[in-house]
Amino acid sequence: MSKPMKQHLIDPEICIRCYTCEMTCSVGAIQHDDTNVVVDPEKCEYCMDCIPVCPTGSIDEWRIVDSPYSLEDQLGFTELPAQEEITLPGDTGGGDLEAFDDVVAALLAEAHKGTGGKPKAPATAAKPTINLYTLGKPAEATVQGNYRLTAADSDADVRHIILNFGSLPMPVLEGQSIGIIPPGSDENGQPHLPRLYSISSPRDGERANFNNLSLTVKREPEGLCSNYVCDLEKGDKVQVTGPFGATFLLPEDPRARMLMICTGTGSAPFRAFTMRRQRTVGTEQGGMTMFFGARAPDSLPYFGPLKKVPEALLHTFMVFSRIPGTDKEYVQDRMLVERDRVADLLSDDNTHVYICGLRGMEQGVESAFCDIAGDLGADWPALRDRMREEGRYHVETY
Ligand code: NAP
Repeated sequence: MSKPMKQHLIDPEICIRCYTCEMTCSVGAIQHDDTNVVVDPEKCEYCMDCIPVCPTGSIDEWRIVDSPYSLEDQLGFTELPAQEEITLPGDTGGGDLEAFDDVVAALLAEAHKGTGGKPKAPATAAKPTINLYTLGKPAEATVQGNYRLTAADSDADVRHIILNFGSLPMPVLEGQSIGIIPPGSDENGQPHLPRLYSISSPRDGERANFNNLSLTVKREPEGLCSNYVCDLEKGDKVQVTGPFGATFLLPEDPRARMLMICTGTGSAPFRAFTMRRQRTVGTEQGGMTMFFGARAPDSLPYFGPLKKVPEALLHTFMVFSRIPGTDKEYVQDRMLVERDRVADLLSDDNTHVYICGLRGMEQGVESAFCDIAGDLGADWPALRDRMREEGRYHVETY
């Protein structure tokens, strides 16, 4: 009888198909087809290199199995299978439940060593549509507009891109992403993989009740897809996959209080959240607080429009790191300055935290939370894990 083993899986409902894990895996254990990204149980060496690079946590899934799910099984998953009952060595049927639980708990604890908990959608979030358009069957969108959001003389060229889907259904929720497939092929002659962009408009369209959406894209000097997207012109056709993402979503409950922390283009989903609330909630709403970091006002996307959002709906703290003659300030620094406000939010079980942007800011933000939670006499890791478990703590960083 075979010994139970832990199997590494990817949650197809949460995975946003950014393929970062596949590009990170040094033993070629991760692969994809049109639909799913999967782990080859014959090749995975449990090195865990793919865990921290995943922006959503969908990679951090484990099952204890008698025999592993094959690649074919995994490519067919629309959701992850539940943990099955396994056969313990020497088990002749019926099984020793306590021993079973112990073995599973030990194996799962080992599998989860050093990794975060599983992200969950807010309890009141709407059900998202995922992976409607795939690599093999992408949607074709038409570019409706391409506007520069940052000053012409700013180093940062950040664009607001509007894509129209015409009569093709594209049901998206705020916080989801889509993939854009750059034309051409890579050095191996393979078509390029899609690059992921957060949607920056609300579910009913950039313009309400139009079948369009917007993206916030920064031109990267060597970026294959960002240059392609930033150079798009009105009327151009674009191949789109998605939508993706099932946890970084807006609570439908208008009384939910939102604490949003972002850098640069990480503000995209928060523009979508804000517009959704502007269009839907009345006076009874929990309010939104945003800490937004950029190099300077002229490189902060949506600087002008953001200042016009009523304070009762959105309170924004804009912080800048490269204003000549001024000390560098990061979002985590301002959180500490506004610690009473942050502590008030953290102490309320109706608060949802969202962090989006540079991977590097995560550590600083964590340490600010740790410090502020101390004011409440709370242990931050425990509070954070409870919030995550309750679908109230969301991180998406690249
Ligand atoms: P950026 O202009 O490079 O940086 C924005 C601000 O963040 C700058 O003021 C920068 O300061 C500051 N910063 C740098 N390191 C930091 C740290 N350790 N802690 C706190 N702040 C820090 O930003 P960007 O180029 O727009 O990049 C945004 C990032 O968001 C990209 O990595 C993008 O992939 C990601 N993104 C993620 C999503 C998503 O997850 N859904 C969506 C959109 C974008 P200095 O440079 O002056 O040090």
